[in-house]
Amino acid sequence: MLKGVGKGVKLLLGSPSTMFVPWEDKFYIVDPGSSEDRTEEIKAQAKDKIKGIMITHFHSDHVLAAKGLESEEGVYAHIIEACGIESVGLRRAVTFGGYAPEGLIYHVKGVSIQVDHVFRLPFKLGPLEAVSLPGHTYGQVGYATESGILYAADSFFGDRLLKSVVILYHQDYKAALETLRWLKDHVRDYYKLIPSHGPIVEGRRAEELLDLNINAMEDLPGKLLGILADGPFTAEEISARIIKDGGGNITVSSVILGAVTVRSLLARLYEESRVVAEAGDRGVLWKVNS
Ligand SMILES: [Zn+2]
Repeated sequence: MLKGVGKGVKLLLGSPSTMFVPWEDKFYIVDPGSSEDRTEEIKAQAKDKIKGIMITHFHSDHVLAAKGLESEEGVYAHIIEACGIESVGLRRAVTFGGYAPEGLIYHVKGVSIQVDHVFRLPFKLGPLEAVSLPGHTYGQVGYATESGILYAADSFFGDRLLKSVVILYHQDYKAALETLRWLKDHVRDYYKLIPSHGPIVEGRRAEELLDLNINAMEDLPGKLLGILADGPFTAEEISARIIKDGGGNITVSSVILGAVTVRSLLARLYEESRVVAEAGDRGVLWKVNS
């Protein structure tokens, strides 16, 4: 069922939630979601009156339900994300490092979605403006309505997900942290903020949730350097140790996904000459630069 967010904007709750923004006598749909059932649910709620489909970033759980969803204008995506929306192989290779099989890392089926309109920033369309939110992926955007509701994609997460995941998935640790700080500085410019996986928040509550996300990210270098004090480790070993210490589940998927964020943080620490990499029997080992 659709939940009213205010100013005529509605949300189909889920993980991710889908935003419905009225325009003329139709809706723009933001991030359709991750199941085939959801395609039918969106069709029923929009009564086939879909103006266009807006995608925030290329992850399968955000795009799968766009398959079979008919709209007047088609699918819109930022140029940096468009190739990953069209190519399942590219989408997976970004995380795995090459071809990745179905079912190893992801729980959502990989489906290719045709992008009809590729845009660069700045970009405005009808009642929406794309907002640059890089870090989780390189070209991630949110969409802000004229009435000040910002669909903030995977730039920040709800507290439940924060606890269960332990290491938040961000392709660029530093860019993701800068995006979080920018959002915190601009919370009061928006009427409401909607993370894809979490509750609708505003004002003080939005600041608190952003702080939880910022703290989780700011704690990561200390945890990583603490682990490296015990000797050199691979990025995946570091990922597994942090997940275990944080009470999370160690699975092939959680370790690989966590290692993406860990590797991007190692790269930043390497640039600051705080860690070094060496090759050994176990692979590429990272250690504190002493
Ligand atoms: Zn995502």
